[in-house]
Amino acid sequence: MFNLSTVLEHHARNSANKEALIFADKRITFAQLDAAANQIANGLALLGIGYGDKVALTCPNLPYFPMIYFGILKTGASVVPLSVLLKRHEIAYHLQDSDAKAYFCFVGTPEMPMGQEGHAGFEMTNSCEHFFMITPTFTDVSPIEGTKTMGMLMAGKSPAFQSYFTSPDDTAVIIYTSGTTGRPKGAELTHSNIFLNANLSKDLQDLNYNDKTMLVLPLFHIFGQVVCMIASIYRGSTAVLVPRFDAEMVLSLIQSEKITHFAGVPTMYWGLLSYPEANKFDSSSLRVCLSGGAALPVQVLKDFEAKYNVAILEGYGMSEGSPVVTFNHPDRVRKPGSVGTPVWGVEVCIKDENGNELGANEKGELCYRGHNVTKGYYKRPDATAESIKNGWLHSGDIAIRDDDGYYFIVDRTKDMIIRGGFNVYPREVEEVMMQHSAISMVAVIGIPSDEYGEEIKACVVLKPDAQITEQELIVWTKERIASYKYPRVVEFKSSLPMGASGKILKRELRGK
Ligand code: ATP
Ligand code: MG
Repeated sequence: MFNLSTVLEHHARNSANKEALIFADKRITFAQLDAAANQIANGLALLGIGYGDKVALTCPNLPYFPMIYFGILKTGASVVPLSVLLKRHEIAYHLQDSDAKAYFCFVGTPEMPMGQEGHAGFEMTNSCEHFFMITPTFTDVSPIEGTKTMGMLMAGKSPAFQSYFTSPDDTAVIIYTSGTTGRPKGAELTHSNIFLNANLSKDLQDLNYNDKTMLVLPLFHIFGQVVCMIASIYRGSTAVLVPRFDAEMVLSLIQSEKITHFAGVPTMYWGLLSYPEANKFDSSSLRVCLSGGAALPVQVLKDFEAKYNVAILEGYGMSEGSPVVTFNHPDRVRKPGSVGTPVWGVEVCIKDENGNELGANEKGELCYRGHNVTKGYYKRPDATAESIKNGWLHSGDIAIRDDDGYYFIVDRTKDMIIRGGFNVYPREVEEVMMQHSAISMVAVIGIPSDEYGEEIKACVVLKPDAQITEQELIVWTKERIASYKYPRVVEFKSSLPMGASGKILKRELRGK
């Protein structure tokens, strides 16, 4: 019973006509979603794809994504979701690295131009035997000779399929990390890793049968995939797919579809906060908002909650943790700025550089073990041994636990700045600067300095119409933070470089 898709099959039997997915004017029931996944599974099985094989998938947030995802899982094969922003060389690398035997790639539309890159990536690798194009209209004619469309794969196939009986430890998904700090690594997540995390995610967000989740987080990323897509399907509730974040579109859909659950990364909350005409829309249906993937500045949390009158529950997770590790549980006291307490079945501790466990209020590396820890990075035993030691996953994040057992993420180890021998955590500086009424977004980084080794620089995006000089901002910050921590350089920017999962890419800011 361990195949992840059995829960979809359960709802297809028991809530056949309930809407599982909504996209634009399309409404797809659980029975339809399952039938489409079965046709895909039948098509793949006929080509000899099954247990042990890897199948890659590049697709924006459209109903095809879950159809193909579950179709692949049903055959016993593993899914390799790839970012929609990858360029041809990167796609070729991922196809080769993951040993993908088949590749599904969305063929772009003018609004979502991306297909050609995927095709080129496929051509550059000879390890991949089959290429299926996901055409927006399910056309039967392939736009590229010698390749098939998803429609051709499904044509004439039975809408019934007996899912492969996987064991809990079999790999369901190879998920590439966001690549925020370097080249993405493929974490192997098992059927039981995802099964348990999706189940606890649906409980943590108090998702009910009649709720509606907005799926705007990219589905190729672990947050949108498990905490939103699979949790919603597991609950038998409805997910509204949105291919691209746009504050106005999101707000208008919240109003028209009466969305109850919204999950986002902090940049989306910034976007919703800085959208000037929010009060044109009725967002009173929102009951729960979730934030994760990066630190949510306390100021943003407070302003958002005041403006939209709904609580944001922040959690901490990572690809390697399937993803949720800690969460601000709805039934416990919520501490703004904290990522809450460990989810059930997961132990968390803070360790020093020598692997010794630290006590409350001591800064160190956040480590965890439990049912959510990845098997390891695919084909990278060295990287695996470096991050999983005696069953404990070493996150690379610095954190502290308070006396009540709540965790606070201080920063990533790799983002820490050492200025004249003093450790400066950019997040602390960012939290202070975000309190300035002129600032919309800020990213603090270290830049080379002859005098101090590293110097502190703030890259700032101002709110529309705000006016302030570099010097004024430096002086303002200096008054509120220890003298070795305030930025000596401020650069005003119109935007900050963003990765595909919506995280600020500090390595790009540092590279300039
Ligand atoms: P890469 O590992 O390739 O550099 P990445 O770490 O960004 O990329 P993900 O697995 O998507 O890839 O993200 C996990 C990381 O996101 C965590 O290790 C942590 O640094 C950060 N993160 C997640 N949630 C939070 C949070 N609530 N507060 C602060 N940081 C968070
Ligand atoms: Mg990481």
